[in-house]
Amino acid sequence: MTIAQLEDWCKTQGEPKYRGRQLATWMYSRRKTEFGAMTDLPISLRERWEKDATILMPWIEKVLHSKDGTQKYEVRFADGESVETVSMPMRSAQDGKIQRNTACISTQVGCALGCTFCATATLGLRRQLTSGEIVAQVLLVQNRLSPRVLSRIVLMGMGEPLHNFDAVVTAIRVITGEPGMRLSAGRITLSTVGLVPEIYRLADTGLRVKLAISLNATSDEARSKTMPVNRRYPLSKLMEAAKYYADATEHRVTFEYVVLAGENDTSADAKRLIHLIHGIPCKVNLIPYNPNPVHTYSRPGSEEIERFRDLLCPGCPAVTIRYSKGLDIGAACGQLVTAALGK
Ligand code: SAH
Repeated sequence: MTIAQLEDWCKTQGEPKYRGRQLATWMYSRRKTEFGAMTDLPISLRERWEKDATILMPWIEKVLHSKDGTQKYEVRFADGESVETVSMPMRSAQDGKIQRNTACISTQVGCALGCTFCATATLGLRRQLTSGEIVAQVLLVQNRLSPRVLSRIVLMGMGEPLHNFDAVVTAIRVITGEPGMRLSAGRITLSTVGLVPEIYRLADTGLRVKLAISLNATSDEARSKTMPVNRRYPLSKLMEAAKYYADATEHRVTFEYVVLAGENDTSADAKRLIHLIHGIPCKVNLIPYNPNPVHTYSRPGSEEIERFRDLLCPGCPAVTIRYSKGLDIGAACGQLVTAALGK
């Protein structure tokens, strides 16, 4: 619940509005889930709420540790469904010390979009997450990191965030709210396949989170093959929406581009990509395809991906290569699936 929703709930309990802020402070800043621990509430109220209400948290069912310090959690909900959540330490190139910590959060159990290179897609959409289940993943990661602090969130886990629009927006309001987790919207990146109407809606919320768009191909024909959503929202419409988002939020949009060796990394692709993004305040982030158990694309070697980057460089404003973390534990981009797949 957002602070406004907590305030309303407190009113239904016959309690003053400011109790909503007290609850938010306990749950989101101090990460307490027992009313008994909320020592600035009257004892009689603590006792009543302990009887009448629950702050229900999912739990970490399983943890996998990567060599690079990344941890992948299977987060299990009361109905038996689960998602994967990833915690990534980002180290300084100079001394190897941890500079910041990023959490990669899921927004749906499975996904409906059917991208042909993505492991999560094979699950189909099992169900939407609630805003609480999205926020809870952030709380669980922060609990494990403590006393270190979580500095960034990427909505790049399982699911399509804009296909669960209301829950995701509510979760962002909770995460960025005050009292809350002290994370500003500029530290949150939402990654989408490119649901065009929802990109406009998100811009118009005024939330100003950063937007990443999974482009992954440079012609409608090729993109419709690997990302079926392109048949509904072709590149021309997607680029208009990207420009609108960048202008409305004054943040550059990131175009993510999963490089499938030999498929979408030709010099013709580079030319088309430069042309497509012309005039849009943006960056391009190349992601080497991460192998997953279900698809057979080829992962480009570092030379191949650098060659593609060099083809883009003079024409694109900023191009970076994302060397995904947690590859060895199946925690990298496109590898998130739960045990459900094994069944
Ligand atoms: N549904 C959202 C967010 C989840 S996917 C989206 O599509 O953007 C997060 C990123 O991982 C996307 O950029 C997606 O294109 C990329 N991705 C999917 N499968 C991948 C794979 N096998 N290797 C590398 N990146 C992959």
